[in-house]
Amino acid sequence: MNDLDAGQSGGAAAAGVIYLVATPLGNLEDITLRALRILGEVSLVACEDTRRTGRLLKHFQISKPLVSCHDHNEARRATELAERAAAGESIALVSDAGTPLIADPGFRVVRAAIERGVRVVPVPGPSAAVAALSVSGLPSHDFAFKGFLPSKSAKRRAAIRSLERSDSSTVFYEAPHRILAAVADTRELLGDSRRIAIARELTKLHEEVLRGPVASVLEALSARPSQKGEFVLVIGPADDRAASGSRSTTAAPPAAPAA
Ligand code: SAM
Repeated sequence: MNDLDAGQSGGAAAAGVIYLVATPLGNLEDITLRALRILGEVSLVACEDTRRTGRLLKHFQISKPLVSCHDHNEARRATELAERAAAGESIALVSDAGTPLIADPGFRVVRAAIERGVRVVPVPGPSAAVAALSVSGLPSHDFAFKGFLPSKSAKRRAAIRSLERSDSSTVFYEAPHRILAAVADTRELLGDSRRIAIARELTKLHEEVLRGPVASVLEALSARPSQKGEFVLVIGPADDRAASGSRSTTAAPPAAPAA
């Protein structure tokens, strides 16, 4: 047994525990061995979309009762799940992709569990924010994660303007139909030379990272007929002393097939 097997990290899924299980962003090879074990051992899996998680579990030959827990029913489900765990069930909470609670449901469940003295255990794995930051080429020792940029222009612009003097990198999620507007706002509000990175379709077939001064990234994006896929926008600090050159680069696609 190694260090990782000691304490709550090892052994069979414990009774009366809620596990927060990260799942792949796209490439199914990113599921962890521990996630598979826990998903196979719990008595119930709570998920955003039962069909989607059902497909994931089926792929790994896991058969479990599923219950939905999404933005529209989480308040009610939180109490129910926490009480079931308090009564001795072991429950896994997953989201559609990545780490639960990170711009995804689950916070209320965790709160309700903690209030009832239920143990909450992380089963870490992929998250688009961390994956994007890691390949962004922007300073990563100090960063802020701000979830989704506001969908309305005025609020989005205010969020971007607030980074005028930012001394760390900032990570946002953004929808494909707004990414161009978000990058255009970044250029207008923070200046042509502000360094950014856009990570698209991470771990999937069309994975790509655009990096460089916002003016050149905007030019590259604007040249496309449409913006497709899932995007993370990373805006570098106002004063990026580590930066050199101004080339926009594209990452090679991953070797493994996307799910
Ligand atoms: N909980 C998830 C996580 O840990 O990354 C994020 C869920 S949030 C509802 C979904 C957003 O994450 C997408 O709109 C996109 O901005 C980002 N995202 C998810 N998967 C991605 C991927 N494969 N590549 C790039 N961005 C992704």
